[in-house]
Amino acid sequence: MQEIPEYRNLIGGELRPAASGALLDSVNPATGDVWARVPAGSHEDVDAAVTVAAEAFGGWAALPASARTHHLQRIGEVFLAHGEELAYLETLDNGRLIEENRGRAGPGMAFFWNRVAQMTLEAARGQSVVLDPSTIGLTRREPYGVVGAIIPWNAPVAMCSAKAGLALAAGNTVVVKPAEQACVSVLRLGELLADVLPPGVLNIVSGLGGEAGDPLVRHHGVKKVSMTGSSATAKSIQRAASETLTPAIFELGGKSPNIVFADADLDAAARGVTTESIFTGNAGQVCVAGSRILVERSVLGEMLGRIEAIASRIVLGDPMDPRSTMGPIVSQDQYERVTAYLEIGKKEAELVFGGRHGALVVPELPRGFWVEPTLFMTTDNSLRICQEEIFGPVAVVIPFDTDDEALEIANDTSYGLASGVWTRDLARIHRFVADLQAGNVWVNVYRQTRYELPFGGWKESGFGHDEVLEFTREKSAVIAT
Ligand code: NAD
Repeated sequence: MQEIPEYRNLIGGELRPAASGALLDSVNPATGDVWARVPAGSHEDVDAAVTVAAEAFGGWAALPASARTHHLQRIGEVFLAHGEELAYLETLDNGRLIEENRGRAGPGMAFFWNRVAQMTLEAARGQSVVLDPSTIGLTRREPYGVVGAIIPWNAPVAMCSAKAGLALAAGNTVVVKPAEQACVSVLRLGELLADVLPPGVLNIVSGLGGEAGDPLVRHHGVKKVSMTGSSATAKSIQRAASETLTPAIFELGGKSPNIVFADADLDAAARGVTTESIFTGNAGQVCVAGSRILVERSVLGEMLGRIEAIASRIVLGDPMDPRSTMGPIVSQDQYERVTAYLEIGKKEAELVFGGRHGALVVPELPRGFWVEPTLFMTTDNSLRICQEEIFGPVAVVIPFDTDDEALEIANDTSYGLASGVWTRDLARIHRFVADLQAGNVWVNVYRQTRYELPFGGWKESGFGHDEVLEFTREKSAVIAT
């Protein structure tokens, strides 16, 4: 029998098992097999990590920006050398197509770290103002200290990089708590970075949310939290962090509307609302998934035909196989959650296509967590499948007749992460860009997160952005000369 590899936490530059010695199983979602074990960290491990991160902070923050740049560029080199391995581990762990993970762990991530490395100066930039002839005012940007980064399973290395990279560039030290469902790629990254950064500057503690995440956000040594995950968890983190008034950035989920008008390029829109939005990319397990497809009634039949044709060509299967265009759901729990919504949807709405799951869908991997692309249709946006984030390849079509109606349905959600609009009408484009209540609006494209633009949610999709200045706090000084 093949030996199951065990991974360790990174604390103070050392690779350590959990203080308790406890391990969690990591399950390959394509096969249902345990393929790795990771530390089940607890408050002891978190305390050790925060302590060394606090000790390392003074030295790291005091480095000249150019020296921090040099360290961060070396992380970029690690991604160039090990991107393929990290992508492979991530696919074993979270089931995302190997091709998608390559894009997140290889040269693209090296580019990201090189870019972040150039932000050390920006993070240190303040302003000066002559207040009167004998008085100068200054502003300084300073790092917070130890940043606690809580990340989800759907893009572990990329999320870890986004938070840790920006926080480190700004001069903070970091403790990362990856998600228990898929954290091997992040723990392996920790092994690769153990000698690249000074000890304690970056620490990684895996474990369950309640056992490792909660003590991290409550820890008095943590001065800022950045969390990506579900709104429910964010609310409990905000309650915990209120004890110490620790500020937090939250990047959360969504129920994003993708609105198709009759004047749109319907072929482009059909691709935009399916493979570019919800059905293939990580089997719909993306925060910005356009899970509500609003279609102008006059083109409803044409759009349904196009959507169904695209969905019928999707190849569900082993995410390591380049022929697959969609992989499994990440875990047994998430699979049960998504399949429960299939049943809810069948009761409360019309099933247009899909709805099958498990071995029925991919018989050659019968223990994998498979859900086929599924489309429901309804006119009632108050249904559970229209209001609750399913986080799987499940979308609902809602027809509309007028612009006002489309806007009302689109905004009728507690979330506000993303939205898509498909139209050729410029006046309509400007109206929707202005009136959609979401942090990101994409017009005639979808899922375009660009480094040049901020990314974040409104309403229960969160607040704050993972941007370098968010990992600094401002101080002003008045100097009488
Ligand atoms: P989750 O909220 O269950 O878990 C996220 C992280 O929080 C994990 O590391 C988990 O262990 C930790 N956690 C859980 N309970 C905690 C607690 N009490 N205290 C501290 N930490 C705790 O989310 P998930 O299921 O892993 O991820 C899916 C969610 O993430 C979806 O809602 C999705 O939309 C969202 N997401 C958002 C973005 C974005 O950028 N907006 C990106 C990806 C995913």
